[in-house]
Amino acid sequence: MTYQHVKIPEVGKKITVKSGKIEVPDQPIVGFIEGDGIGPDITAASMRVWDAAVEKAYGGKRKINWCELYLGEKAASIYDGEYFPSETLDAIKDLVVAIKGPLTTPIGGGFRSLNVSLRQNLDLYACVRPVRYYKGVPSPLQDPDQVDVVVFRENTEDVYAGIEYESGTPENEKLAKFLRNEMGAKFFEDAGLGIKPISPFGSKRLVRKAIEFAIDQNRESVTLVHKGNIMKFTEGAFRKWGYELAKNEFEDKIITEEELYSEYGGKQPKGKIVIKDRIADIIFQLLQLRPGEFDVLATMNLNGDYLSDAVAAEVGGIGIAPGANISDHVAVFEATHGTAPKYANQNKVNPSSLLLSGVMMLEYMGWNEAADLINAAYPKVIGDKFVTYDFARQMTGAHTVSTSTFADALIAKITGNADVLARFERERRDAVEAERKEREAKRIEDPIAAMRESGHQPSTAGGIMSPVRGVPAGTSVEDAMHQMREWDVSYLLVELGEDKGWGIMTKRDVVTKIVGANKSTHNGTVDEIVSRPLITAPADASLSTVSLLLSENNIRRVVIEARDIPVGVVSDTDLFDIVEEFGWGTDD
Ligand code: NAP
Repeated sequence: MTYQHVKIPEVGKKITVKSGKIEVPDQPIVGFIEGDGIGPDITAASMRVWDAAVEKAYGGKRKINWCELYLGEKAASIYDGEYFPSETLDAIKDLVVAIKGPLTTPIGGGFRSLNVSLRQNLDLYACVRPVRYYKGVPSPLQDPDQVDVVVFRENTEDVYAGIEYESGTPENEKLAKFLRNEMGAKFFEDAGLGIKPISPFGSKRLVRKAIEFAIDQNRESVTLVHKGNIMKFTEGAFRKWGYELAKNEFEDKIITEEELYSEYGGKQPKGKIVIKDRIADIIFQLLQLRPGEFDVLATMNLNGDYLSDAVAAEVGGIGIAPGANISDHVAVFEATHGTAPKYANQNKVNPSSLLLSGVMMLEYMGWNEAADLINAAYPKVIGDKFVTYDFARQMTGAHTVSTSTFADALIAKITGNADVLARFERERRDAVEAERKEREAKRIEDPIAAMRESGHQPSTAGGIMSPVRGVPAGTSVEDAMHQMREWDVSYLLVELGEDKGWGIMTKRDVVTKIVGANKSTHNGTVDEIVSRPLITAPADASLSTVSLLLSENNIRRVVIEARDIPVGVVSDTDLFDIVEEFGWGTDD
């Protein structure tokens, strides 16, 4: 490809995509856009830090060859007034990975935000925001150490699709008429109208990205965030499609949270990621109260917009939050703040947002060792209270430094103490793992309390069933009774053989069919007194379906089946306890 102003470095190779994965050579060419306002200051400082970390981590074997690309004011000065040159888009696609500083949105004159244009033109459908606490950063939380989440926000659909009709316009009237007359919808006169498209395609590709990330980065869980209890066919559908995709495409790598409790007794199997979901309003609470329980979050556009800023505020505000916009492979990493024009060229502002976006970029490239060095050096420098003005004003006794001096301090930590830094990062990871183990122990010990605390509201039979307790056909009633007492259960399942299937024997059966009939518990076998056929439901049956089965059949237990094999039992007591604990779903 030939370019007018872009100069592809002669040394280095391009990043490529093979079999659905990016392939990063040891000397990759990576695009950078320095941005407007404070962009040049933070870009120059951050680049020095990234380069130093790569050099230290790989001893010269790996090196980024930077290729400058142009957008915004610098582009306008080079491309004759063009803020958004098409060859920049071509170059980003060609190079696959790029990083950019903030861009001014020129006011008036029909300009669209350059950032929005970039996302739409490159179909960067996933907005990724990792939010993690670095020791020493000012935070309003008591225990900010627990915050380490990555928000994957869908970037192309939802109420952001721009399908809106202003009150009083002919388009609005036409749509209102159609909705009232043809669809039976009811709403106030002159309401402004907007459409919220959520598609299986858009939802699934976002959730796929989130799960792939969780797998690549050894994360613990992916939480689907939604308000599906109210918007069933948009937000509820996002949840449904998310689970569907997880099951269909990652079956051997994931389990659902319901399975975590029902099949694994709360113990997360090694190498499996837990897929769970939370209602949007609850997640805002939980991310403040119990942030350690969340890891990767997959959200629709609007929820993600709110959520990523809210979580970022817990650990230093959006001023330091890194971000990226990613398509299937092409990824553009970026500072999440604006151009702060009043500070332009003063070497004053905090480079952290861009700097940490570069850490994400290194991880995306699979260069985790270099990323780790920066991650570990960063809290050391902040801990020394060596900070730019914005942090200094929130700390006591801070030493205010310039953008470039902050970078120098980081580089000194990275180059001087690489082994020590690597140990700090390892210690942090060990602490996270220890916390995970502690949560697991609680889940195993008291599942209901763990569910309540973590906001998991079981909604299916599989989520509340107890594991199957069974004995073989031919077992004497007496032995079966001992077994029931040992397991502390009031029923047993019995596999009667190929053609006869399964039956269930309860304490009541023993009392009425053996004791009441004056028979011997020693001579009688379970086969003689089991009830058949079983009343069954699939694991994904709703709690109301199960309760209907109980009442219609006048029984106390429903057997939960998967592929015609019993996998659990839900009793009226289980249902009672769950409803007493969690209520019967909320509609607010
Ligand atoms: P802004 O540039 O983010 O600045 C708002 C304030 O945030 C600054 O005055 C400063 O606060 C603080 N701040 C931002 N970046 C900082 C940093 N690196 N270090 C320390 N403090 C920092 O928001 P804005 O003034 O609303 O927007 C200015 C321009 O940026 C607009 O043209 C807007 O369109 C554009 N913008 C671009 C992007 C992007 O490219 N991704 C995003 C948002 C906005 P104090 O004054 O309190 O020190």
